[in-house]
Amino acid sequence: MKIITKNEKETFNLGMEVAKKLKGGELVLLSGDLGAGKTVFTKGLAKQLKLNPRKVNSPTFIVLKEYELENKNIHKFIHIDAYRISSIDELNSIGFNEYILRNDAIVIIEWAEKIKELKKIKKTIRVKIKYLSEDSREVSLNY
Ligand code: ADP
Ligand code: MG
Repeated sequence: MKIITKNEKETFNLGMEVAKKLKGGELVLLSGDLGAGKTVFTKGLAKQLKLNPRKVNSPTFIVLKEYELENKNIHKFIHIDAYRISSIDELNSIGFNEYILRNDAIVIIEWAEKIKELKKIKKTIRVKIKYLSEDSREVSLNY
């Protein structure tokens, strides 16, 4: 499914819509260039899951941020920025393989295209954001 968003708010709202479908245990792979809107989308996911979107920012220098959630089934929100990561081994060394086994966690990866092994994982939600013009983006969603 492809959707054109005309401003930041629309991408944020799309993140909220996608989060409504989450049950826990999902892996969300975000791809797109710098400034595409991956973090904006992630903030929308956060908002819907009752995590203050202001707390969520690009964890570029931190790689992984873990948040506790006050939800019935989803208890952890794991936000990863893979910009400086190049292999699945590096991801696993920070706990990725353990997080994705948890049914009460949502794992979100920005720059997922940097790690080719992620393509082999089944049942991912893939979100590709393409810059069209200053305020518009093409968001491709694949479940
Ligand atoms: P990324 O995480 O992909 O590097 P960010 O989400 O941090 O990108 O930043 C996206 C930037 O693009 C923000 O400054 C935002 O205001 C701007 N922007 C403009 N139009 C849109 C849109 N339609 N969707 C998302 N962001 C947009
Ligand atoms: Mg970002």
